[in-house]
Amino acid sequence: MLDPIIKVENLTKKYGDFEAVKGLSFEVYAGEIFGLLGPNGAGKSTTLEIIETLREKTSGKVIVNGIDIENDPAAVKKIIGVQLQTAGFYPGLNLVELLDLFAGLYNEEIDPLAILDSVNLRDKAKAKFKELSGGQKQRFSIATTLINKPILIFLDEPTTGVDAVSRKEFWEMLQLLKAEGITIVVSTPYMDEATLCDQVALIQE
Ligand code: ADP
Ligand code: MG
Repeated sequence: MLDPIIKVENLTKKYGDFEAVKGLSFEVYAGEIFGLLGPNGAGKSTTLEIIETLREKTSGKVIVNGIDIENDPAAVKKIIGVQLQTAGFYPGLNLVELLDLFAGLYNEEIDPLAILDSVNLRDKAKAKFKELSGGQKQRFSIATTLINKPILIFLDEPTTGVDAVSRKEFWEMLQLLKAEGITIVVSTPYMDEATLCDQVALIQE
């Protein structure tokens, strides 16, 4: 059996006396769409942010691509893509300009049109962010996770509050990214989305 690309072992997170993550264990394999399912407050964001090395764990072990996150968080950050808050997108720039801007911040050389292809937005290359529909804005925010050419991306509740048509388009886009060989970890409160994942972990409050 292949080694997992993510291995989470007995992860806990306490906020004061409150235990938000209670001994969670799971493994994610390269190339799959892995769903983290659970209701509001179950600890999905906390778990994702710990794996992304953005939040400290209380105990347990997390290995990402063979790297213990405790030993080398910077090496983990280099190979992962994390969705940015759309609030940071200048509304008056077009999509190519925005991607170039972010690439400059990451100090990366990119092909903006190839990235837009990955999320089915090439035909919107010259459109301004503010001119996009809700579903398109959502897909563009996924495009920004691809700038550093990650092998693994994390999406925290990307479909929450999104209409049914956009949700369907969104999951089709995840299949495109998967076909490019990117491993996807996605959290959702919607049980019906479990069937769209290759593997799921269910977490309860
Ligand atoms: P989810 O993303 O599944 O909704 P979270 O990881 O955001 O869950 O939160 C899990 C629990 O931890 C919730 O009860 C939440 O109120 C609590 N929590 C999250 N962040 C903090 C924090 N910084 N300080 C205290 N409690 C927190
Ligand atoms: Mg959350």
